[in-house]
Amino acid sequence: MALRNLCVYCGSNPGRQGIYLEAARELGRIMAERGIGLVYGGASVGVMGAIADAVLEAGGRAVGVIPESLVRKELAHGGLTELHVTGSMHERKRLMADRADGFLALPGGAGTLEEIFEVWTWAQLGDHRKPCGLYNVGGYYDGLAQFLDHAAGEQFLKPEHRAMLIVEDDARRLLERFAAYEAPTVPKWIGRGET
Ligand code: AMP
Repeated sequence: MALRNLCVYCGSNPGRQGIYLEAARELGRIMAERGIGLVYGGASVGVMGAIADAVLEAGGRAVGVIPESLVRKELAHGGLTELHVTGSMHERKRLMADRADGFLALPGGAGTLEEIFEVWTWAQLGDHRKPCGLYNVGGYYDGLAQFLDHAAGEQFLKPEHRAMLIVEDDARRLLERFAAYEAPTVPKWIGRGET
């Protein structure tokens, strides 16, 4: 599937090291160069704000989706191509998912993890066939990737489902892998035959 719009989940905080904001800006510039629109959480702060600013400065499209309850708290971005204010967090996540051809997590906290895990679990269940991945800036996701390998080793996660979550530390390679992604057809349950 062509990657026209990429949903990027990322921290509402900037993180301790400058590399996180720098990586977000670089990714934003590359997306704009390639005509890939950004779908994200709509904030002007943290890693979220950095990627949106970079996309817009480079002449790209940035679509924000934010629930009403967070408009003030996360400081909604005032200069986006489109800003959608939803009634709830669930509506936000649904709209972000519908608008995107792939899902990527930059470094972030619990919100970012919850968001990428949700769409990855939907992929495992066959609800969509879009690529999901972690942008492993400065090894930020090394520990998580290791844990997921452990989960697969302990047979709580099929190796094919583990492999569906792309982990990559280079933005260009990441976008190439997303563009080339083909979802496998794997039954969800381990040891229960076809479901
Ligand atoms: P964080 O990674 O925690 O900084 O949050 C990144 C984004 O996730 C922000 O836009 C938050 O609004 C959002 N978020 C925070 N908590 C949740 C949650 N429980 N479910 C979905 N999104 C959340």
